[in-house]
Amino acid sequence: MIDFIDAPSPNFDARRAPPDMLVLHYTGMQTGEAALARLRDPDAKVSAHYLVEEDGRIFQLVPEERRAWHAGRGVWQGEDDCNAASIGIEIVNPGHEFGYRAFPEAQVAALIALIDDIRSRWSIPDNRIIAHSDLAPDRKTDPGELFPWKQLAEAGHGLWFEPAPERIQALGGLLQKGDQGIGAMVLRAGLHRLGYGLKPGGDYDAETETAVRAFQRHWRPTRVDAVADGETRARLVGLLQLASAESVTGVLN
Ligand SMILES: [Zn+2]
Repeated sequence: MIDFIDAPSPNFDARRAPPDMLVLHYTGMQTGEAALARLRDPDAKVSAHYLVEEDGRIFQLVPEERRAWHAGRGVWQGEDDCNAASIGIEIVNPGHEFGYRAFPEAQVAALIALIDDIRSRWSIPDNRIIAHSDLAPDRKTDPGELFPWKQLAEAGHGLWFEPAPERIQALGGLLQKGDQGIGAMVLRAGLHRLGYGLKPGGDYDAETETAVRAFQRHWRPTRVDAVADGETRARLVGLLQLASAESVTGVLN
């Protein structure tokens, strides 16, 4: 049983369907108090369902049955009204602009307990537990490369894959901006299949770079440079296998 602190926000409207996606954010403001005030300010017109403080306190702002305003413009797995489809969690951290720092253990533990609780109520697949930067890679970087996605996956939430060295080796060298042809085409198709909103095509263009950078921030956090090295591609292939296994299981269930 989680001890929520009630902090209602007026910034929500109605859902049309139950949520089946989870979007994680960082607050990106100097303090948690400032972020909480903004998320409750009717003039700001932004909100989230929950805010998790660095000390582990969890504030509930919007009921899960309502559509909170946290995601904005973006797309994941073809869904272009991510607010309508998702539950949004703001995680207190100053972010890249005000002194990005590690997420404290108490905060991560509280977040994991919160996600356990949310997923006991709603059917949310692992491949739909994403970063704000995944659905809006052209304008968002949160919760960023310091967020412990691996630890979250080990606790049972979200996808994570670490390829064996032979698999990385087999995929060979770098793909990067300006490359054209089958390699770039397969990369783009794979990113699209996982969920990113980039169009099919054979050019490693600026849009591809944006998606690769977002992918790395989530799933290859020690290399966030928009260059798809063998390990970036091996991780993508492994994640696609996990995601499609999950989809098949979902259908069978
Ligand atoms: Zn965000």
